[in-house]
Amino acid sequence: MRLKARKYIVVLGSLMSGLGKGILAASVAKLLQSRGLKISPIKFDGYLNVDCGTMNPFRHGEVFVLDDGTECDMDFGTYERFLNVDLSSKNSITGGKLFRNIIDKERKGGFLGRDVQIVPHLTDEIKNWIRKTGEEQDADVVIVEVGGTVGDLENGYFLEAVRQLASEEKVVFIQLTFVPSLSEGELKTKPTQHANRLIQSMGIHPDFIVCRGNEPLSREARDKISMFCNVPPQNVLDDPALESIYELPQVLEKQGMTGLLLSALGAEAGEEDLKDWKALVERIKNPKKEIAVAITGKYTAVKDAYVSVKEALVHAGAQHSAKVNVRWVETSGIEDGQASAKELLSGCDGIIVPGGFGSRGTEGKIACIKYARESKMPYLGLCYGMQMAVVEWARNVCGMDGANSTEINPDTKYPVIDFLPEQRGIKEKGATMRLGAWECRLKKGTKAYEAYGTEKISERHRHRYELNNAYRQKLEESGLVISGTSPDGEIVEIIEWPDGFGIGTQAHPELKSRLERPAPLFAAFVKACLEKKKG
Ligand code: GLN
Repeated sequence: MRLKARKYIVVLGSLMSGLGKGILAASVAKLLQSRGLKISPIKFDGYLNVDCGTMNPFRHGEVFVLDDGTECDMDFGTYERFLNVDLSSKNSITGGKLFRNIIDKERKGGFLGRDVQIVPHLTDEIKNWIRKTGEEQDADVVIVEVGGTVGDLENGYFLEAVRQLASEEKVVFIQLTFVPSLSEGELKTKPTQHANRLIQSMGIHPDFIVCRGNEPLSREARDKISMFCNVPPQNVLDDPALESIYELPQVLEKQGMTGLLLSALGAEAGEEDLKDWKALVERIKNPKKEIAVAITGKYTAVKDAYVSVKEALVHAGAQHSAKVNVRWVETSGIEDGQASAKELLSGCDGIIVPGGFGSRGTEGKIACIKYARESKMPYLGLCYGMQMAVVEWARNVCGMDGANSTEINPDTKYPVIDFLPEQRGIKEKGATMRLGAWECRLKKGTKAYEAYGTEKISERHRHRYELNNAYRQKLEESGLVISGTSPDGEIVEIIEWPDGFGIGTQAHPELKSRLERPAPLFAAFVKACLEKKKG
């Protein structure tokens, strides 16, 4: 069932960041999608970067990549994983993109005779963007998540734009808040009341207030928030800590959110169809088996940097009714001689070396890969992890002593991983890597082919280096299997070990993994780990 007129929902954060606005927005979207509506999620990030490409994942979390090569905030991963849709650059609005558009337009004479102002020029640009995206994506409902929190200086003009939008279209506002408790049972609603006043002072009236907290939201707290913030008590919802984020849609649904939202939007929709989703959540919550997987990496301290890898393991685990316990392994200890790969990986059923840049910890990673290959521990190398598997193979199987990637050692005697030719002249850093979805052809009879079950695949990329074709023949002659290449055969996309389960992919298959559609290589990897554990 489709809506006659497009509706809008705006999700605002209040009090503090990190409350899970993205997961809330995605869950609300999922609920509406489960009623047969078409949803277009948009996120606004106020920073002046054009995109996330140049940000450090250590500070900002993972850089997520879309099919069209857009490098964006990790919330886009959450939307795609919940909604099982492919988004585009249109879904990501940043302060940088907005100002760039406006200034470009001004230079071209787009505002001749006028002084260019935040209101109306920038606010019009925002409203047009939101409307156009809804139109182009044929959405029934556009859900706009405003990054950061209300009160952040860099969000001011955006909030003004959505305030205006609300007088032109049907817009429902959701305020996400935190309700702390000082001692058990003593929930404090005052911070929420103040935050709500701040929002109201901007001319925006939240229709729903969703509360995070350390304790379940009490009747008393709900009534207080309702009274002081001018919302009916049933529109004050509890967003409790959950075992699995994928449970949130049904937790909100139990509180009647979809019906309330539809009536606030003035919309009717079909029957709920969350059956398959709930079955998958059930599998996550009640696994039948368990495995431990080591993930090595420079950013092990900030797990947000690898959120897609973690989630892809959840999806693959759910497919096999298995819980995947992740063990984060910092490999620099191996280089300092404080630990061995064997010690660090003991008790693990498989190992993943994920994407990465620079040289810190690489020798430790290579030592882990060697250990996995020799002990037939299932291995999955993602982008950098594929490159390091090639280096390990070249050194220890092909006898190319000191082989390396030129990213790590530009003077290596055996540059088995080197710049992609088109990368050589590039000086600018923003959006200049080989980005987005690229096609790959798989070789029949390989493990990769078995995992995907098809010859033609497409996965997302983000890299500057590749397997150096000058060494391809030597590597193959020594037994390394090249199981996937670009359609023209020029770029090696997937390699695998001839024995055991060891696959390295130049792509990031984790970026396309969804709960309802796990990434094939992750599913195959988890299966191999389960088999290895069973012995
Ligand atoms: N640093 C490597 C490259 O640029 C790998 C990148 C990655 O893992 N995303 O090719």
